[in-house]
Parts: sequence; structure tokens; C-alpha cells
Amino acid sequence: MARPADALVIGGGIQGCSTALQLARRGLRVVLLEKDHVARHASGVNAGGVRRLRRHEAEIPLAIAAMEMWYDIETLLEGRQTGFHVTGQVAVAETQADLAWATQRAARLRALGYTHEELLSPAELYEMMPELAPGMEGGLIARGDGAASPYHTTMAFRDTALQAGVVIEEGIAVRRLARADGLWRAQTDAGTYQAPCVVNCAGAWAGALAAQCGEAVPLQPIAPMMMVTSRLPAFLKPVVLGIGRPLSFKQMPNGTMMIGGGHLGSADLRTNTIRLDFAKLTRSARTATELFPLMRAATLVRAWGGIESRLPDDIPVIGPSSTEPGLFHAFGFSAHGFQLGPVIGEIMAQLVTQGATQHPIAPFAITRFH
Ligand SMILES: Cc1cc2nc3c(=O)[nH]c(=O)nc-3n(C[C@H](O)[C@H](O)[C@H](O)COP(=O)(O)OP(=O)(O)OC[C@H]3O[C@@H](n4cnc5c(N)ncnc54)[C@H](O)[C@@H]3O)c2cc1C
Repeated sequence: MARPADALVIGGGIQGCSTALQLARRGLRVVLLEKDHVARHASGVNAGGVRRLRRHEAEIPLAIAAMEMWYDIETLLEGRQTGFHVTGQVAVAETQADLAWATQRAARLRALGYTHEELLSPAELYEMMPELAPGMEGGLIARGDGAASPYHTTMAFRDTALQAGVVIEEGIAVRRLARADGLWRAQTDAGTYQAPCVVNCAGAWAGALAAQCGEAVPLQPIAPMMMVTSRLPAFLKPVVLGIGRPLSFKQMPNGTMMIGGGHLGSADLRTNTIRLDFAKLTRSARTATELFPLMRAATLVRAWGGIESRLPDDIPVIGPSSTEPGLFHAFGFSAHGFQLGPVIGEIMAQLVTQGATQHPIAPFAITRFH
């Protein structure tokens, strides 16, 4: 006997929990199925960057809408803590080529009507970050961007979803998805769940589910890596990004430094494991010390990675299936999906309950790969 629901959500990352919450608030009986446990993968271990800065143009409207939700995240999550705070995010131009890119980017965004990214002169840069190595050319800043705790945020979405009536089943993997007689059936080792609609928020594993439904996509598993150091005296407020080389660098409220920004290890989807690439971690540490020489005094405490996935154009799939009614996808966030979490829930719930959303999701259609 299949267990019934109005909607099944597959995946207990930030996208699945946010979607489940928004569906429950619209009155649906929602079951969320998670093969491991909520926040086990990318959503729980990421860098926590809440950033509009340097977004792909197609993502900017969604990132702006998500940001408005972050500013009021305590209301959305009924007072639960996410650690969100506004720090500003700055992309540092180390070279004339970086500065030319930043200047062009700022002009392009202005022409499109966006005002959230501004050019910074070297004087403003050094006023903001006196410990920055000499010789920088300037930068690009989004003053209203910030950071949050990824684990606490994802768990806060989970807890709010539970409070709204969502049933969360952990340790239950969807093995097979099939539709018959107008109902989706999700087969698991613990029996079958059924509902008129399914939202595929299965992160790096989502491509396998899409392929089962006749719409294979070139989703590639990736394993972005992070490092954290011992505590240093407070010296850095904004989150710092690289332009010409990968870097994301921030000081946590407790003084530790988080270093990430795009160097990849390797991920094994079958075993849920990651292999760190220590040569690349060394490069990452070197970039941080070259930009902030006082980092030479820091001790690395821990390194880790998270299983994420990317699509060839580095933007996600968001929207209805092109092959099956009642199936919706939100996956392939290409290492920048955490910030979008609040708005993705809203979009998916609107698609499920109204068949449309006011957010511009056409660039994220799954059909772009067909
Ligand atoms: C190290 C790192 C740093 C990052 N830094 C940032 C950042 O600073 N800012 C930012 O915006 N983004 C960042 N990201 C990206 C961000 O973390 C992801 O884009 C986002 O968390 C994706 O959320 P998700 O819910 O789609 O995926 P996930 O969190 O991976 O959740 C998907 C879930 O689906 C489950 N699942 C899969 N298949 C099945 C199945 N068949 N049945 C049941 N459950 C299933 C999985 O177990 C998993 O828990 C970073 C990512 C990493 C790894």
C-alpha cells in the first residue's frame, strides 16, 4: 500500500527543505524524502556566502529576490537562527586586467538597471581592509551581501517545515520514480510513496532521477573544498572574493578564517565520499596569504569538501519537467545555490500550486540541454 501525500519532495538540502516549507504553507500535505540526513551534503557544509556579487546575469533577479528574503529571514523561519549577517562582499582586483573586468562588469550591470555592485577605488579598498597586501588596483563591492551558517540555516528550514506539518523521512532513498494513473510513485527500500506531484531537489544525484524520467542532463558532480584556520584578532569585515584566481575568504565572528572559492576535490556519488586535493588546497592557502600577509601567522585547523553538482553553463535547472506532468526540478546550483535557497522554495511552490511563478526562470529550463 503506497503512502499518500499531495506532494513529494526528494532531497533534504536547503532547496528541498525550503520547497517543502512553502508547499506546506500553501496547504499541501508534503512528504520530504532524504537518503541520508538533512543538511548532510552541500547545504550543510558550504561556505555560507550570501552573495549577489558576480552572479551570472540570469541569476541576478533571483539572487536579488532571495536577498530580500534573507533580510527578513527570521520572520520566514519563525525566529530560528541562521547566523545571517550583512558584511558586504568585495571582489579584489589584483591586476589591471582584473580592474578592467570589474569596470566592465559594473558598467554592464548599471546598463541593465542594477545598482547592487559598485566599483571601489584603491583608497576605499584599503580603508575597508587595511591588512590587504599593497599594490591592489581596486575592486567591486556588493555592500548588502553577507554570510550565514549553512548548517544552522538548513536545519532552520527543516525545523520550520516540520512545524508547518511536513513529514520528513530521513535515511530513505528514492530508487525509482514512475508515473501511472495520474500519480507519481517513489519506490524506496522502506516502501512506496505516492502523490500527484514530485519536486526533484536531489542535488548532485538529481540527474539520475531526471534521466529516469526521460530527460537526461549533463550534470557533473563536483567537490568544492574549504579550509578553516585557528583564531586571529579581528581584521576583516567583508567577505573577499578573487577575480583573476579562485578565492573566497572571510573572518568568522569567532576570529577563525574560512578559505574556499572554487578549488575542487573529487566526489564519489555512490559512496558519499570526497577526496581532497591537497595541492589545490595549498594554492588556495597561498592566495590567501598573498592577499593578506598576516595570514602567514595562521594555522590551518581543518579542511573539508561537499558534494555539489554543476551544469555546463554554471546555472541550475529550475522549473517543470519537459517530459512528464507533475514533475518539477531544482538542481545543479553549480556551487552558488545556498543564497538562492529562500526564493527557490517560493518558486517551486508557486509552480506546483499555480503552474507559474512571477520570477524569471526561463533561462533555467531543462530543455536547454535537449
Ligand atoms: C564547499 C562548498 C562551498 C559552497 N559555498 C557556497 C556559498 O558560499 N554560497 C552559495 O550560495 N552556495 C555555496 N555552495 C553551493 C551550495 O551549497 C549548493 O548549491 C546548495 O547547497 C545546493 O542545495 P541542494 O538542496 O540543491 O543540494 P544538497 O544540499 O546536496 O541536497 C540534496 C539532497 O538530496 C538528497 N538525495 C539525493 N538523491 C536522493 C534520493 N534518490 N532519495 C532521497 N534523497 C536524495 C541528498 O542526500 C542531499 O541531502 C557551496 C557548496 C560547497 C560544497
